Amino acid sequence: MSYKDPIIHIDEQLCTGCRRCAAVCPVDAIIGEPGHPQTIDAHRCVVCGQCVQICTAYAADNESTTALRAVKLQERGQLPNVREPLFAAYSSGDIQKVKAVLADPKRFKVVQCAPAIRVSLAEEFGLPFGTLTPGKMAAALRRLKFDRIYDTNFAADVTIMEEGSELIGRVMSGERLPMFTSCCPAWVKHAETVAPELLEHLSSCKSPMQMAGALFKTYGAELDGIAPSDIFSVAVMPCTCKKFECSREEMSVNGCREVDVVITTRELASLIKDQGIDFIHLPDEPFDSPLGKYSGAGSIFGVTGGVMEAAIRTGYELITHEQIPNLQLDFVRGEEGIRTAEVQIGELELKVAVVAGLKYVDAVLAKVAEGTCPYHFIEVMACPEGCVSGGGQPKLLLETQRKIAYQARKSAVYRHDSHQKVRKSHENPDIIKLYKDFLGEPLGHTSHHLLHTKFVDRSLKEEMS
Ligand code: SF4
Ligand code: SF4
Repeated sequence: MSYKDPIIHIDEQLCTGCRRCAAVCPVDAIIGEPGHPQTIDAHRCVVCGQCVQICTAYAADNESTTALRAVKLQERGQLPNVREPLFAAYSSGDIQKVKAVLADPKRFKVVQCAPAIRVSLAEEFGLPFGTLTPGKMAAALRRLKFDRIYDTNFAADVTIMEEGSELIGRVMSGERLPMFTSCCPAWVKHAETVAPELLEHLSSCKSPMQMAGALFKTYGAELDGIAPSDIFSVAVMPCTCKKFECSREEMSVNGCREVDVVITTRELASLIKDQGIDFIHLPDEPFDSPLGKYSGAGSIFGVTGGVMEAAIRTGYELITHEQIPNLQLDFVRGEEGIRTAEVQIGELELKVAVVAGLKYVDAVLAKVAEGTCPYHFIEVMACPEGCVSGGGQPKLLLETQRKIAYQARKSAVYRHDSHQKVRKSHENPDIIKLYKDFLGEPLGHTSHHLLHTKFVDRSLKEEMS
């Protein structure tokens, strides 16, 4: 399948040609002269939405433009009463589809929320940057009439079980090293476009969002006694590229799409407002079990270094059969750029690198191609500080706000981790049960079928998706 909608657009009627978007684009996909409307090279574009975040050119909002605004909101897939200005750079919206399905009592509606939503959603309701609201988010989703409120964090724990086992296997055999993480679809699309010969270095794991979708329509369907084809699976993501990822041909399970629709943090906020839900005064409610119970390790996937930290917590204990001495691994935490570390795990000196921001990855890829890359395991997240800074997050108009907001969202993610009783993926009781009752073992037959994937050579120009 080819995704025909490029998802990220620049409205030529609104673009002033300031090229602020071109300055943040990590892959030089924005084309145009200063002072003239810009266009996007869809082949190079990784759909990260950073241009959408930075764009400050917007339509005047007055009586004479009201009709035009209604037309543009419809074209953009947004709800008619959304109050955000119409910016020149925007991502295609899917909220109208979700609203229609929520009103259909015959569908069984399942929702999952990425780790980085619960630390940013409240900003859309006027609360300070980084306010942590998992309980209100679950309550809001229940009032929107989702039948199951599940969590991507649960699938992040599954990812660690699968990816950690894969890494241990590769380190022991010395094959296909270094291994790159594969949970950021913008990074995956970039690798497929510029380095198809290196794709065997990516972990074969699907992203947590897709793993969750596959589990909802198999294990979850069995638990609820529902036909998989009756389940409508929605994912709330901080990321515009997740809309592209869910449409990939290989992201299906037994003939059903794993994730039917992805909406962003901003789209969820607009739906909550549209339904008149008083988010600030909602009580804290739990996620549903078992696909909504997560460890602290699952919750840190939303920040740069989070996947690495979660993997080391589990990898250390699986290899040494001893408790990791310290759960807070400051050496992989940080900001935009590249961080490296050597971690002693029993006899093994594991060399790791964390890449935050896609513009830093090409130098690493060049070293892998030359055979001189010294690392065993490399985490890559396309956005500057991981998903807390994703293209679908609440929009920040001032540069000064941006750093403060990212820092506050990251602190909230780490606070959330430190408050969890279980902080290692392999100790999550519902993960243990999932393997015992359904998956068997990491990298086993069922896991391989549901949770792993193959990548695509996109080096040819005409191949957009
Ligand atoms: S979505 Fe990302 S890659 Fe695509 S044009 Fe915008 S900034 Fe560049
Ligand atoms: S870092 Fe996160 S938000 Fe950004 S493109 Fe990757 S998965 Fe999406």
